[in-house]
Amino acid sequence: MASSKRTENQEIVLQGIGVSPGVVVAPAFLLTTDAIPLIKHEITPEDVPGEIARLEKAVIETRRQIKAIQKDLLRRAAASDASILDAHLMVLDDKMFIEEVIRQIGERLINAEPIIRDVADQYAAVLASLDDEYLRERVVDVKDVARRLLRNLLGATGSALTELSQRHIVVAEDLAPSETASLRKEVVCGFATDLGSPTSHSAVMARALEIPAVVGLGDVSRRVMTGDQLLIDGNKGLVIIRPTPQRLAQYGKVAEQRRLVEQRLAALRQQPAETRDGHRIVLSANVERVDEVEAVQQYGAEGVGLFRSEYLYLSRNRVVGEDEQAQAYTDVATRLKPAPVIIRTLDLGGDKFLHDAAFHRETNPFLGCRSIRLSLMYPEHFKMQLRAILRASVTGNVKLMYPMVANAGEVLRANELLEQAKADLSARGVPFDKDIEAGVMIEIPSAALTADVLAEHVKFFSLGTNDLIQYTLAVDRKNERVAYLYEPTHPAVLKLIKMTIDAAHRHGIWVGLCGEMASQPLLTALLLGLGVDELSMAPSAVPLVKDAVRAVTMTRARELAELALTCKNGADVLGYCRKLTSEVAPELLELV
Ligand code: PEP
Ligand code: MG
Repeated sequence: MASSKRTENQEIVLQGIGVSPGVVVAPAFLLTTDAIPLIKHEITPEDVPGEIARLEKAVIETRRQIKAIQKDLLRRAAASDASILDAHLMVLDDKMFIEEVIRQIGERLINAEPIIRDVADQYAAVLASLDDEYLRERVVDVKDVARRLLRNLLGATGSALTELSQRHIVVAEDLAPSETASLRKEVVCGFATDLGSPTSHSAVMARALEIPAVVGLGDVSRRVMTGDQLLIDGNKGLVIIRPTPQRLAQYGKVAEQRRLVEQRLAALRQQPAETRDGHRIVLSANVERVDEVEAVQQYGAEGVGLFRSEYLYLSRNRVVGEDEQAQAYTDVATRLKPAPVIIRTLDLGGDKFLHDAAFHRETNPFLGCRSIRLSLMYPEHFKMQLRAILRASVTGNVKLMYPMVANAGEVLRANELLEQAKADLSARGVPFDKDIEAGVMIEIPSAALTADVLAEHVKFFSLGTNDLIQYTLAVDRKNERVAYLYEPTHPAVLKLIKMTIDAAHRHGIWVGLCGEMASQPLLTALLLGLGVDELSMAPSAVPLVKDAVRAVTMTRARELAELALTCKNGADVLGYCRKLTSEVAPELLELV
């Protein structure tokens, strides 16, 4: 209740998931989902055609507005964000939605507004109950479309956000894609939401806009009122409601330190990622969207170490054809050349599903038909993707890698299909790089344990530690109840990493690491000491990690790795990592 919220004047600290880094202090703007007052009234059977016509007019206007936002996003070169709005257009065209509203107008003989809310609620409830994270996240699309439609029926325009004229932190249950798409950085300097995960649209958008954001806060929208002072710490995932003067002073000092460190980090942009004793490592970027290329360049990453190609599909919620894929890869490769761009073939399945794909529902999808398994099950589709990658290979420095490989047979089959894709293009007279390099991701213990065998068939490895940790420790990477067991520094994980690196080097191939571990400056020395040749991470993490590389010597890093490999538990390893960092780069401890 609003009144009870007003009586709470003390500071409240909420812990959520930090999805976009940075700290900001500003008044809150509460975006409520139920801000539109609805009046229900009866109509006569003769009124039904008129009511349906009124609804249809609002649908047309809604479609026009969504398309206008899409066009604007395309103009701002945010093509993949624009395609998110395809999901909204699909909701508008879905029989379960508008046709159902029309049917109920005739049946219930009431005006359209309350029916839209009821039907949208039912539709959202069905999606929310599905055992599929991607579809569950579509709930927000349905609610957004319903809100826009209601506003148009009632004659109100735009979103409450478009009326903001001063800097605010937006607080909401969740933010719909069309809302985040119309955010203006001048007035929205951060956001905090009850729902959301690092893969939700709003998280993706916040990172793209580079505004601090924290999601998954549970009930922040019920604890905050418009005008409350808020502090968001996107690095630590904290939201502080009505921060005390002491808190602000403490953050003021941290902010000052951060500013100094950031200035120093920005100056590192042109410097090599080289240890104090001259050992060079490659720092590259993980990207999901074509327009992230700008951030790759801005933060000084040396190319793309992981292009998660499945996001092309997920952002459009459909299969993407050869031409469209080739165009996306070409855009990235051309803009970054001569720097390498490693395109990972589709990693669908697990928790990444398409609405309309022929993927079967499985009881244990992370151990099911995921990634390369799915690609090999649909060879024609896989070859289509390989042709798209090959076509882009003449426009820059393109490599490709296969995800979630469990045995050498899969690599051999994938390489065979790669040769067939090359033959297809040759027959069509389309140019491509005949010597394109293929690698495998090491994400399954069986791959790490047989890395010697796999190394014979590829040009590089990339350790996908996000999955390697979950499969080694039997810990679902998305389940917060077992998160305490998800330990990147667990001795078993370190042994598998070491085994993979040694096998690769014995075969004269290089090894990257593109899991989240790569972006943690506390672990940089450890990974260097274990012998990785490349670290790939979110673009904005590159400066900090480069700082960590430049602070240490290879001798210290190797000593740390040797010590870590003798440790009996992950906490001890982390303790040694922290100790070394406090000696060589204490300022980093403040920032992580
Ligand atoms: C990984 O598993 O470490 C990885 C980089 O792939 P993803 O996070 O996309 O599964
Ligand atoms: Mg993975």
